[in-house]
Amino acid sequence: MMLVRPGINKCISGFGGRALTKETKKCFSLNSCHFKVSACPVYGEDHREIQNTLKKIIDQDINPHVDQWEADGAFPAKEVFKKLGNAGLLGITKPTEYGGSALDFSYSVAANEQLGAVHCGAVPMAIAVQTDMSTPALARVGNDRLKREFLAPSIAGDLVSCLGVSEPGAGSDVASIKTRAERKGDDLIINGQKMWITNGCQADWICLLANTSAGPPHRSKSLMCVPMDTKGITIAKRIDKMGMRSSDTAQIFFEDVRVPADSIIGEEGMGFTYQMQQFQEERMAGIALSLAPMDLIINQTIEYARQRQAFGRSILDNQVVHFTLAELQTEVELLRSLLYRAVESYVAGQDVTELVSMGKLKSGRLVREVSDKCLQFWGGMGFTNEVLVSRMYRDLRLLSIGAGADEVMLGIICKFMGTLPAPAR
Ligand SMILES: Cc1cc2nc3c(=O)[nH]c(=O)nc-3n(C[C@H](O)[C@H](O)[C@H](O)COP(=O)(O)OP(=O)(O)OC[C@H]3O[C@@H](n4cnc5c(N)ncnc54)[C@H](O)[C@@H]3O)c2cc1C
Repeated sequence: MMLVRPGINKCISGFGGRALTKETKKCFSLNSCHFKVSACPVYGEDHREIQNTLKKIIDQDINPHVDQWEADGAFPAKEVFKKLGNAGLLGITKPTEYGGSALDFSYSVAANEQLGAVHCGAVPMAIAVQTDMSTPALARVGNDRLKREFLAPSIAGDLVSCLGVSEPGAGSDVASIKTRAERKGDDLIINGQKMWITNGCQADWICLLANTSAGPPHRSKSLMCVPMDTKGITIAKRIDKMGMRSSDTAQIFFEDVRVPADSIIGEEGMGFTYQMQQFQEERMAGIALSLAPMDLIINQTIEYARQRQAFGRSILDNQVVHFTLAELQTEVELLRSLLYRAVESYVAGQDVTELVSMGKLKSGRLVREVSDKCLQFWGGMGFTNEVLVSRMYRDLRLLSIGAGADEVMLGIICKFMGTLPAPAR
């Protein structure tokens, strides 16, 4: 049911599957923020070209369907990924011999910033799983067979991938995962389970972290490519979530799953280290994805508060409202600057763990603040499912939990600051 109140249809009309007005299109446009992407010191013409290509796909093939996908609780990953693959958007940083463009990581960040213009968090997250979470280690250190079988078709958009790190008993504490992959002749036999796996129900293969020896926790794990149709894999359940509604999130069981031993990505026993490296790209992607939604909901809130009247003047004319929105936009720009600084250092080959952890912490906190404070200025409308701000309030809450919770980021920052107490004996 559509809620109609005089004057508000301009700001909600693009969200419930209804026609976009010119003004609303402006509200949703990445270019409508005060600090245009062109202001970024690390982006040039080629970065903007990628963003323009992606924008066309988002406008034509993604945003018009998002409301339906959210209502269905799923989106057609294969269809969407094929379109992105055809446009060369799934292998921006990947080697050319496997169909990628071999560009540096700043191009991937530019794409992720643009992906934030999708009208939900779920679809960008699913795409980022494919580009920045399940494939970086494979592209960097995987063998030729794995790259041909899993990387090249993932870049082309013919396969959907997922990343299997978390388990029911181990999320923040990655070192304590229990899934095992034991050698038997030339094969590995996998037993265990994974939890919260994004794309899990639709994926063709999983980049799996499992214990391959009984050694010290940081040396006992390997990453491996496992086809999801291998005998012994069961999707136990599709998890019902408060947000990211159109993303499928699975619990997956592995029972005597047999794969060739050369399915291990890179060196056996190095999986924990590769995953920690992979996390840096995942976290930068996450920060980049968070920026446009914050711009969008701040802009929409300005539009809504400008035309909504209370006590003889517009809501926006109350100083607490326009000052709050100015504070929020300032924070978004600070986060954007931190991201660009981290990306520049990363591309230059520096260790960015501390800066990326700070950015991940800040983005998790800021999306909560922006979506909560903006939602407040929409009054009752903010509490409905008719407006983007309420969807983002639910979807973006994940940022403080996934890919390392806020407290995990604080722990890493404290380690760099030399303030983390030694583990109790
Ligand atoms: C929608 C969704 C999608 C996801 N997608 C994937 C995926 O594709 N692949 C994958 O592998 N995982 C995925 N995850 C899992 C996600 O990475 C974990 O949920 C996250 O790492 C936290 O782990 P946990 O849920 O087990 O929380 P726990 O580890 O149980 O932690 C619970 C809470 O305890 C607190 N805490 C933890 N450690 C500390 C500490 N050291 N100090 C103080 N407080 C602490 C934090 O507040 C934390 O939120 C997804 C999760 C969700 C919800």
